[in-house]
Amino acid sequence: MVEVNYSQRRPSTVISIDRIPELKGWRQNGDRIEMGACMTYSEMEDPLFAAYVPSLAQAARTVGSPQIRNAGTLGGNLATASPAGDTLPPLAALNAQITLRSLRGERITTLSNLITGVKSANLGRDEVIVKVSVEAVDGPQEFLKAGTRNAMVISVATVALVLDAARRQVRIALGSVSPVPLRASAAEGWIADQVNWESPSVPDKEAVEHFGELVASAATPITDHRSTSGYRSHAVGVMAKRALARALS
Ligand SMILES: Cc1cc2nc3c(=O)[nH]c(=O)nc-3n(C[C@H](O)[C@H](O)[C@H](O)COP(=O)(O)OP(=O)(O)OC[C@H]3O[C@@H](n4cnc5c(N)ncnc54)[C@H](O)[C@@H]3O)c2cc1C
Repeated sequence: MVEVNYSQRRPSTVISIDRIPELKGWRQNGDRIEMGACMTYSEMEDPLFAAYVPSLAQAARTVGSPQIRNAGTLGGNLATASPAGDTLPPLAALNAQITLRSLRGERITTLSNLITGVKSANLGRDEVIVKVSVEAVDGPQEFLKAGTRNAMVISVATVALVLDAARRQVRIALGSVSPVPLRASAAEGWIADQVNWESPSVPDKEAVEHFGELVASAATPITDHRSTSGYRSHAVGVMAKRALARALS
């Protein structure tokens, strides 16, 4: 609608998919959580859902206004492929699998294969996003967002952190600091070696500082009307340290 309002898009046909039962809501399937493409942000805020996928619930809570959260959907956020899409970093950190369907059949893809650039998704003209599936991870998850104000704000930088105790992994994904959601792989590998997995607690100050520096150096942000690239890199470093401390304390 933003593109329509600015005359950047003049669709001749609009198909409503919000009453297709298969695309709605979420369900548990074994050790995985499956979310229909038409699941709304408001539904992600539900405490029942938040207990399984807290980072996505935290991200949903920061999106737009209550009206936007009632109308906007997970599939819409994915297909828009905006670098500022708030559900994207949690999905990247959760290694989400995305199911797409067309008359030619079904395919399952990853976020990094689906989102190829700024507002560019590897999505056929006849393909619809059906569902998104993530593992129900044993461990805390965090989502932090920096913007120019507290609510109704497009993110300047975001961080999603998932502590996967079973695999002894700290997975961290960044938003709004590159054309596509970014995993801070060097930071992930390094901090996983610093955590005492038998009895997790926050590593010493120097280790946390170095983790923040590694996350900041993974970012490849631009300077635009919302922020400078320097601030964006700094912000993801600070938020990553906070997310780590919250997850491990
Ligand atoms: C005032 C305002 C504030 C906002 N604030 C935020 C914010 O804070 N954070 C944030 O991340 N976003 C924000 N947004 C953007 C919003 O989250 C997305 O535009 C929304 O998720 C789109 O979802 P939708 O279901 O309405 O999709 P639509 O607007 O209906 O569709 C968007 C695009 O996705 C395609 N599409 C939708 N569903 C599917 C599907 N299942 N399969 C294939 N293609 C599909 C459509 O064809 C279209 O091209 C905001 C938008 C507005 C207007």
